[in-house]
Amino acid sequence: MAEAFEERYVSAEFTARDSDIEASLRPRLMRDYIGQDKVKENLEIYIQAAIGRGESLDHVLLYGPPGLGKTTLAGIIANEMNVNLRVTSGPAIEKQGDLAALLTNLNEGDVLFIDEIHRLNRSVEEVLYPAMEDNALDIIIGKGPSARSIRLDLPKFTLVGATTRAGQLSAPLRDRFGVVLRLEMYTPEQLSQIVTRSAGILGIEIEPYGALEIAARSRGTPRIANRLLKRARDFADVMGDGVITEETADLALSRMEIDHLGLDAIDRRLLTAMIRGYNGGPVGLETIAAAIGEEAVTIEDVYEPYLMQIGFLGRTPRGRVVTRAAYEHLGIAVPEDGAKQQTLF
Ligand code: ADP
Repeated sequence: MAEAFEERYVSAEFTARDSDIEASLRPRLMRDYIGQDKVKENLEIYIQAAIGRGESLDHVLLYGPPGLGKTTLAGIIANEMNVNLRVTSGPAIEKQGDLAALLTNLNEGDVLFIDEIHRLNRSVEEVLYPAMEDNALDIIIGKGPSARSIRLDLPKFTLVGATTRAGQLSAPLRDRFGVVLRLEMYTPEQLSQIVTRSAGILGIEIEPYGALEIAARSRGTPRIANRLLKRARDFADVMGDGVITEETADLALSRMEIDHLGLDAIDRRLLTAMIRGYNGGPVGLETIAAAIGEEAVTIEDVYEPYLMQIGFLGRTPRGRVVTRAAYEHLGIAVPEDGAKQQTLF
């Protein structure tokens, strides 16, 4: 499955390809963070209030599909609070001791960012509870009947957790976050601003319609927009005079088999498999996964959110269904039978 990812330009997952530019393109302050107005407005108030009271910010949970700016926002929170940022991820913290080491090394007020926090194992999570609630670390010393627990004080810190699936967080963990914010997909106009800003940083010349073309085909996701910008630059350099116009952007994206709505070959395969193999659904996630050779979690986290956002895929209690709009986009005739017509939306 990893290979499929690597080849996918519109995958929102972070890949090695992104690492060179991601750092330079990441906004560092709230005012450079484009879009997500509701999230920003709320956070700004909480940050100001915390600074005013001389306290650390309450723990923050950010959720939403990959590539929407969760890591970026954690960095911005740290910068705005003028503290350090420590970055780790759920799967990277294997043992209780790993987390204990991280926590005891924090400075007063620091932000600890845990990406994919839904993947923390339960025993590690238990260390997090007293840390989040009482700034305390409970350590067991000794074994057997003589074992005893001692409590260490930790510096005050802010945990920023990020997850693609808030529903998978255990209730005790979720309840310990004072602030829970959901990131939304970006509009083409916002993505176009992001593309223009990134082009400026990377020294790429881009026309407004070139930026909009890339934006409209980036599935609402800044990470994808930045990635497509780089590829469009290659086309502009080789086939034109280096300036990304609407035409060069369109050419580059078409060559990458990304259509006008940002769907790539795999999205089309997914929808077509559901239509041809299962009469458009309802069909279970696992069945779709097997039919197209992708993992169910990947479909759920990466492919589905956008297909649902644009109204091509619906969820019903009996499984996923392809919508009429998707049939039309793919140029496939909607089935004639009345029953099917009724279930299509
Ligand atoms: P996530 O943690 O949600 O997967 P990231 O924070 O790593 O996403 O964001 C991916 C990239 O997208 C970042 O490098 C950054 O350049 C860009 N980005 C994300 N959100 C914004 C935004 N609101 N404004 C400008 N650029 C953004």
